[in-house]
Amino acid sequence: MNTTQFTACLLYVAEGMIASEPRLTALDQVIGDGDHGIGIKRGFTALRTLLLSADFSPVDIGDCLLQSGTRLMTSMGGASGAIFGTLFRAGGKALAGRDEFDAPTLAAWLESGMQAIHQRGGAKPGDKTMVDALAAATARAHADVALTLAQALAHSAQAAMAGAEETSTMVARFGRAKNLGERAIGHCDPGAVSMALIVQFMSEFVNQ
Ligand code: ADP
Ligand code: MG
Ligand code: MG
Repeated sequence: MNTTQFTACLLYVAEGMIASEPRLTALDQVIGDGDHGIGIKRGFTALRTLLLSADFSPVDIGDCLLQSGTRLMTSMGGASGAIFGTLFRAGGKALAGRDEFDAPTLAAWLESGMQAIHQRGGAKPGDKTMVDALAAATARAHADVALTLAQALAHSAQAAMAGAEETSTMVARFGRAKNLGERAIGHCDPGAVSMALIVQFMSEFVNQ
């Protein structure tokens, strides 16, 4: 994908995330404060406005991700505004100057996001956060750098959703679900499902 196609892909992701609001709200009502779907909807609606605006003309994929991350960060709010904003902004820095989004680029973006999110919030795999879905997607993307982007995204999306589902076996060490202790077991982390959905919508866009 070139920068124009990547922008169209992010627009497809934004539409998908906006439509996922009820599912994400329901998850956060169980183990959080119920606002995750609303935050995601607000952030990705603001992102959609950015991507559709006539004067949005990113110079490369990094610039597109950087501007997108800033928009998410300033509009979404909550823990996830900072976390998902960081995911996009980290990719913006890692992919500066690139005009081709391929399988190795996917791995580079996810890897940069993992590191930046860990630095920002301290969560590791196993802590029942979006990091569990991101770590699974990242590992799969690293293994798939020789494949086509469509194949790599399909595999990463599957791995991310499996990683999100795996959070239902965990006790939370970050965020509001931490207060629930063992009672969080049996329920998926909402941010992990959001993370998996982002990769899934990218995969849908490229594979459709
Ligand atoms: P809030 O908890 O402020 O209401 P949201 O409901 O929008 O924010 O987002 C909650 C999600 O944020 C969690 O499901 C979790 O995946 C993610 N999250 C919270 N803290 C962290 C952290 N330190 N690192 C990574 N992700 C986190
Ligand atoms: Mg919440
Ligand atoms: Mg909240």
